[in-house]
Amino acid sequence: MIQTTPVVVIGAGPIGLAAAAHLIERDQDVRVLESGISAGAAIAEWGHIKLFSTWRYNIDAASRRLLETPSDSYAGEWEAPRDTRLPTGAELITEYLAPLAAHPRLAPRISYGHRVTRITRVQPHGAGVDKSSSRNRADSLFLVRTETAAGSQDVLARAVIDASGTWRTPNPVGRSGIEALGEVEATTEGFITSPLPDPFGVDAERFAGKTILVLGAGHSAANTLISLGRLRQAHPDTQILWGLRGVANPVRLYGGGAADELPARGQLGTSLRRFVENGDIRILENASVTSLSAGAQLTVEFADRRSLNVDFLVPATGFRPDLAPLAELRLDLDQIVEAPRQLAPLIDPEFHSCGTVTAHGARVLAHPEPDFFVVGMKSYGRAPTFLMATGYEQVRSVAAALAGDHTAADLVELDLPETGVCSTDLGGSCDSPSPSAPASSCEPSNPTTDSCGAPASPARIGFATGTVHGHAELLGGTKE
Ligand SMILES: Cc1cc2nc3c(=O)[nH]c(=O)nc-3n(C[C@H](O)[C@H](O)[C@H](O)COP(=O)(O)OP(=O)(O)OC[C@H]3O[C@@H](n4cnc5c(N)ncnc54)[C@H](O)[C@@H]3O)c2cc1C
Repeated sequence: MIQTTPVVVIGAGPIGLAAAAHLIERDQDVRVLESGISAGAAIAEWGHIKLFSTWRYNIDAASRRLLETPSDSYAGEWEAPRDTRLPTGAELITEYLAPLAAHPRLAPRISYGHRVTRITRVQPHGAGVDKSSSRNRADSLFLVRTETAAGSQDVLARAVIDASGTWRTPNPVGRSGIEALGEVEATTEGFITSPLPDPFGVDAERFAGKTILVLGAGHSAANTLISLGRLRQAHPDTQILWGLRGVANPVRLYGGGAADELPARGQLGTSLRRFVENGDIRILENASVTSLSAGAQLTVEFADRRSLNVDFLVPATGFRPDLAPLAELRLDLDQIVEAPRQLAPLIDPEFHSCGTVTAHGARVLAHPEPDFFVVGMKSYGRAPTFLMATGYEQVRSVAAALAGDHTAADLVELDLPETGVCSTDLGGSCDSPSPSAPASSCEPSNPTTDSCGAPASPARIGFATGTVHGHAELLGGTKE
């Protein structure tokens, strides 16, 4: 090893593990700190959902080389899944992330049960360097504080790559970006579920016969609502309410149906529409939640003074980055998207479809804080359009930069999936109905084609995601 103080990677998701694989390939010392008990801990919580990008785009190149190369301590028996198959989240873990994390060159470097809570800088001899201290800042180390079962621990690092994702910080249910009154208690009492429960799988029993309010108009909401619709077919006493922040705009809610340029998106919308038109799902317009009171049921109050009682509330309202651990670092974030300033214009869903995201790496991801990078889902801040393929290129470039290979770091290229698989649509501005905004307000900069080589689609029409994740089978597709 060239370095004795490691590069710390926060998070053992697909992008954190890929960052580690690239650093190992470049003979850099690396330590991965993961809050969960195993790799892909966030993905495990939506393991029932089928991805919308095929295996071809879900495997990082350095990780693949690591997994496929036999050595004295490793037989190299891993077989890559078929390129054209769409895995579920659970399969992404069992067929790729778990074998990668178990690789003998990676496994000893991963510390599970280590939740990073703070990051700051210290001089190599131990003196503190807070945010306002500029002297010798670039020569100082990072101090990464983690919470573990054995108490708090400080880990020193020469560089930090934050790949902790956004799954643990969903947007609040309350209006205007802050929690509704009583929201914290409602969560503690178990009335607010995970953003992507499994109503037709492990959650079927607790949801059957109950009244469930789903908030959000994106792809996640659609997946949950369709699952709930199926549950209701088996348990007709189940009541499903779909809360929209604005008024119901059929084009935006259901897409173009059979006329949709992206057939799978059309299928998803058609299926959802059928449940609504059959009366299985009741739409609540202008559902701006002001307060939640937990009792035998959850009482939900809205800004227009309506109120209703539900058994569960599903917050399909998108995600945001947790910036609290980074408070002592010098960041240059876009004020709106909360992504690095140079990256934000490339991904802001108010102005760009997913397809306009260009390849980017260390240079675009850099902050005034030397040797600190946010990568992966978290690098996109509040924008919902992140793809693993984009993150793999990010970390290839960042690893090259940290290894001093600036030529390789600057040579960024991106091979994105084809038509319509460019957006997760997990919230953000494309999740907020905006009936007054014309569809063209979200036109990509190139209105005829996107960088996927497909016809560009305005992100405000229907589900921004082109293909179904989660319910290909449900909608008549196959697993393959
Ligand atoms: C339902 C869904 C479907 C998606 N489908 C696709 C798809 O088909 N194709 C695609 O390319 N992308 C898809 N995405 C988007 C994105 O690629 C994934 O979310 C991907 O998992 C992001 O990888 P990541 O490594 O950045 O973050 P994550 O997978 O979220 O991993 C972050 C890791 O960091 C850990 N962590 C979090 N906080 C801390 C902390 N403070 N300290 C230590 N560890 C921490 C977490 O436990 C987790 O293991 C999807 C996203 C969702 C939610």
